[in-house]
Amino acid sequence: MSPASSRSLAAIQARIAAAETRAGRPAGSVTLVAVSKTQPWEHIAPVLEAGQKVFGENRVQEAMERWGPRRTGLELRLIGPLQTNKVREAVGFFDVIETVDREKLARVLADEIQRAGRAPRLYVQVNTGEEPQKAGIAPGQADAFLAACRTTYDLAVEGLMCIPPVGEDPAPHFAALRAIAERHGVEKLSMGMSDDFEIAIAEGATSVRVGSAIFGARDHALNV
Ligand SMILES: *Cc1c(COP(=O)(O)O)cnc(C)c1O
Repeated sequence: MSPASSRSLAAIQARIAAAETRAGRPAGSVTLVAVSKTQPWEHIAPVLEAGQKVFGENRVQEAMERWGPRRTGLELRLIGPLQTNKVREAVGFFDVIETVDREKLARVLADEIQRAGRAPRLYVQVNTGEEPQKAGIAPGQADAFLAACRTTYDLAVEGLMCIPPVGEDPAPHFAALRAIAERHGVEKLSMGMSDDFEIAIAEGATSVRVGSAIFGARDHALNV
């Protein structure tokens, strides 16, 4: 019998495939980002052995400790807030940074990418629910910020990311994110988590970030 997390992985993969079909989207058009933050290695190893290659982490230090020794062949995504004093490490380590959300960060990223000669793929995080405690650029400032990323800082923005407010219908938030992306010709949409990834796929998600539905509930004391 295979361990619980690899069975859960297979179940999530099947649900993603079904949601792609229902949405009339090609098989394999949605990337599963397995969110391994705070999970014990016993839960992660079976998922890695099952062939999962894309993982999401929300802290730079934790990600480097966990994945640094076994980095090869994986795609690692930073999905948590990035402080400017961690930009050097983040640019050196991650394949994708999904949480670009303010001018100062854009400027420091641009400088570091130039210096390092290495550019992670970048997503802009939009705070679609305008929640004060949540990271992300406000929707009303997203157009100007995306323009600044491209023209002022010469950053290639591959996608947009959002985390809808807990307890609200996520569909309008996903639709709003897609509308911003379409206005700017941004290709990728990182949206949908354990509880709402099928809705996100119906709304056009190109990647979904699924943690607890694969690995089990996190220890909330450690969770962000
Ligand atoms: C933790 C986290 C997830 C995964 O959440 P689950 O509900 O466990 O699937 C997805 N996205 C972000 C930004 C997160 O911090």
